Amino acid sequence: MTSVPSALLSPAEIRELAGRSGVRPTKQLGQNFVHDAGTVRKIVRAAGLVPGEQVLEIGPGLGSLTLGLLEAGHPVTAVEIDPVLAALLPGTVRERIPHAPLVVVESDALTVTNLPDPQPTALVANLPYNVAVPVLLTMLERVPSLERVTVMVQAEVADRIAAGPGSKTYGVPSAKAAWYAEARRSLNISRSVFWPVPNVDSALVTLTRRTPPATAATREDVFAVVDAAFGQRRKTLRAALAPLCGSPALAESALRAAGVDPGLRGERLDITQFAAVAEAVHAVRDGRAGQDGHAGQEEDAGQVGLAGTDADAITREKGGSS
Ligand code: SAM
Repeated sequence: MTSVPSALLSPAEIRELAGRSGVRPTKQLGQNFVHDAGTVRKIVRAAGLVPGEQVLEIGPGLGSLTLGLLEAGHPVTAVEIDPVLAALLPGTVRERIPHAPLVVVESDALTVTNLPDPQPTALVANLPYNVAVPVLLTMLERVPSLERVTVMVQAEVADRIAAGPGSKTYGVPSAKAAWYAEARRSLNISRSVFWPVPNVDSALVTLTRRTPPATAATREDVFAVVDAAFGQRRKTLRAALAPLCGSPALAESALRAAGVDPGLRGERLDITQFAAVAEAVHAVRDGRAGQDGHAGQEEDAGQVGLAGTDADAITREKGGSS
């Protein structure tokens, strides 16, 4: 693949572009723009993309990473919440890589319900730090075509996403991410490659999609158990799951039915065990409902894919190619 060094934005060009368009980075939207071409190329390489595969980028900002992806020959669908940045991006790209295959969707990634075809198979992004975990989990849930994810997040968050059971950093983001994918923390990224410079260091996390654990429980049931277990992290699972089950005794029955020691804390369980517990909790609650004469827990509709759903959330869609 031929590299075109001049396609990427230099620190001076980032400042010039922002100044010319009246962009003033806000903390609220986590706007820290990468201005180092070497870092952009490292991220693109770390993403391990298949030649020509459709990439989803959340938060393209001024286009630093977008240009890196396009330069490497990958068509990009970019979802940007900031209307000024969303309007600016197609022109920036057209000037530097004419006819590049870019589609910009102006939307909040947390509420977007449809993406234009072709559906992306990889997510590569420098995520806005304040919503990095919800954005990551939302994309894994709503874009089933995603097979690979490489995201830059706050280093501490990268540790949490990639942590395994028993580690201090293992928690809700680790367990929920593990439902969808195998996560691995990779490169550290210095704060000096951003403008403005953030207060924290960053790191890349790569995730590879896998089949969720086999269970009769829904994803929502499993996530409710994960939330309950870590909501009272210092308590035993017997105590932490008591509100969900109705009593500590019912929680104990569910845990024993799932083959889990009720005296353990949630931090010891992997996602497969959480799924087994959720299934048992459901059964225990159904049993209790039968005794009380109440209806059991409502069945959930399960996952909702983006493709083929309402296009309401898409308010801007511009092709970068002409
Ligand atoms: N990708 C660019 C880069 O690397 O220079 C910018 C990354 S900056 C850390 C995060 C970007 O996400 C900003 O452009 C911001 O406006 C955008 N953003 C923030 N919240 C968002 C959301 N909920 N949905 C979509 N984009 C969002």
